[in-house]
Parts: sequence; structure tokens; C-alpha cells
Amino acid sequence: MTLPATGREWHLTARPRGWPTPADFALREAPVRAPGPGQVLVRNLYLSVDPYMRGRMNDVKSYVPPYGLDEPMDGGAVGIVVASEAEDLAPGDHVLHGLGWREYATLEARHATKVSAELAPLSTYLGVLGMTGLTAYAGLLEVASFAGGDAVFVSGAAGAVGSQVGQIARLKGASRVVGSAGSAEKVRLLTEEYGFDAAFNYKDGPVAEQLRRAAPDGIDVYFDNVGGEHLEAAIDSLKVHGRVAVCGMIAQYNATEPPAAPRNLALVIGKRLRIQGMLVRDHAALRPRFVEEVSGWIRSGELKYHETVVRGIENALDAFLGMLRGENVGKTIVHLDD
Ligand code: NAP
Repeated sequence: MTLPATGREWHLTARPRGWPTPADFALREAPVRAPGPGQVLVRNLYLSVDPYMRGRMNDVKSYVPPYGLDEPMDGGAVGIVVASEAEDLAPGDHVLHGLGWREYATLEARHATKVSAELAPLSTYLGVLGMTGLTAYAGLLEVASFAGGDAVFVSGAAGAVGSQVGQIARLKGASRVVGSAGSAEKVRLLTEEYGFDAAFNYKDGPVAEQLRRAAPDGIDVYFDNVGGEHLEAAIDSLKVHGRVAVCGMIAQYNATEPPAAPRNLALVIGKRLRIQGMLVRDHAALRPRFVEEVSGWIRSGELKYHETVVRGIENALDAFLGMLRGENVGKTIVHLDD
């Protein structure tokens, strides 16, 4: 096969302050590099856009290095091998890897994981059976030490992680599952399709009041995707020995001022709460059990998932910004032309 001479890739061109704008990015044509020994050339089919990428646009020390200016951004992707100089991967193989935000990626074969289009739709390796799915599974079961009978509250509940947290809690015997999301349509989806016991639109009024009404007997577990006012409300509603898995704080990713809430942290003492941060990469050992259990629930129809699919590399930035604004339901995926 003749390899393409160039491919398009998204570069960060300026560090956003507050909300990113298209002026901070550029879609550029770059040479496609033939694979060297041990490497493969992959044509990307699906790109993941994720909230953590916003943090990588800042020039601060964090758990992942910042994106470089005028360099391609990276992130999760699934593609097809088009040329291989590695023993264990051949042209036609589908792989999951970390060089997203571009059409073509040349990488070490050992950094690519073979995935099967027969076992599951390729996009699911980025979502319900991938990084966000494992985050939900590990965060609820390991970090928040969920046990049957717990009442669970999850924020960002119609998103990729949140929608799976609520359903896993239900399937594992929660006494009550409550979710919050940013529109009436999403709230309806939570109760009517995902089987949440109660849900509310956090834009309708104070979160603490809405949560108290949705979980009048209190909650045992809070899975935090949002931070700020949501975390404050959860601390209010948590019972003694309650647990919080702090997965994300998306309410402040574009903030230019420190958050005003939570103002009630002292309640942690009397209630003996446990608030624990998490990174999905610490939970790789759970992956086989997670894939087996979740794929079983998908096959049986007990766990449902949505994807928001945006087509074309030229629309990848809009997909990312739209997800930050809450225009997505479930995992946001960019589908490049087959
Ligand atoms: P997602 O929930 O699919 O998409 C982001 C959602 O955040 C939007 O749909 C929007 O929904 C909501 N949102 C945006 N601004 C908000 C605000 N000010 N207040 C409340 N909600 C807001 O994204 P995801 O990939 O599943 O990620 C969810 C969270 O998990 C993020 O905080 C992310 O950083 C975190 N995460 C952490 C790890 C880890 O290892 N710690 C791994 C993956 C994800 P609404 O319409 O409901 O506002």
C-alpha cells in the first residue's frame, strides 16, 4: 500500500484562560512518518475527547504533562494498522492507543493494544468498555467501597462516567440511586432509561435542596464528577461513615477564580466521612473483571449506554468544546471517515 504523504492533526497554539476558543487551536497538515523497527502506522477511526484534556492545556505540573504549544495534542484513539514493522501486529488489525487528535499515528507497537471489532463496536473501547467505563467501575466499587444497600448520588450523571456509575450501583443492589444533570431531557433519560430512582436538573435550583428532596434518608456514597456546589450538597446529605470518590471537578476546569464551595468541610469530622481522589490508571488490574462484567450487562440489556458521535477530524474541537458545555449524552466520540 502507498502510504499517505500527509495527515491532519490538531495543535494547541495558545494556552486558554477560562473557556478555550477556536483561536487557541489549529488543524494542521503534517508529514506521515513510515514505521521504523518495532513500530506501526495506524489510521485513526475513532478519537476520544475528554474533560481531563482541558487541564493539559494549562502549563502547570499535574499527573499528566501539559500539551506543548504548536505540537499535536494526544488522547485515546482506536484505529486500523496500515503498515507494520512489528511482529505481533499486522495491517488490518484494530488497535487502541494514545495518539489521538490526528488522522495518522506512528507509534511503538508495544504502546498499542489489539481490540476486536467482532467482540464489540470499536468506539466502545474508548467509552463503556474503555477508560471512562473502568473509571466508573473502579471509582464506585474500589474507591468508594460501594456495598449492596448503599444509597448513591452521582453528578454528571448523563455523561460517560456518570451514566455508568448509576447503572452499576443499581445492578449491584443500591438501595437508592440519585443523579444530577444539566437538562430536563437528561434527567428523563436517567430515570426512564438508566433506571435511576430519582434525578434532578442542577440548573433548576440549589443542589443541596434538590438532593435532600431526591434522597430524603441521606446518601452513603457520592461519586463526584463536578465538585463545587455539588460536593457541598453531598457533604450535607452524606450519612455517618459516608464515602466520596472524587473523580472529577468539571465545574471548575474553565474557572478563573477559586471555587466558592464546599464551605461545609468541617462536617467531615463528625460524620467521619472518607473523601478520596482517584486516577483510573491506578486501577488497571481491575480491567479483566470490569470487561467481563460490563460486557455481560450490555449483552443482557441490563446496562444501557449512549454515545455522542461527531463526524470528521475538522469537527474534533467542536466535539470537545460541546462536551465541556454539556451538549453530549454519554461518551463523546469523533468518528473519522472509514
Ligand atoms: P462527560 O460526563 O461525558 O461530559 C462532561 C459533562 O460534564 C457534560 O456533559 C456536562 O453535563 C457536565 N458539566 C460541564 N460543566 C458542568 C458544570 N459546571 N456543572 C455540572 N456539570 C457540568 O465526561 P466524562 O468523560 O464522563 O467525565 C466526567 C468526569 O469524570 C469529569 O470530571 C472528568 O474529568 C472525570 N474523569 C476522571 C477520571 C479519573 O481518572 N479521575 C477519568 C475519567 C473522567 P451537564 O449537561 O449535566 O452539565
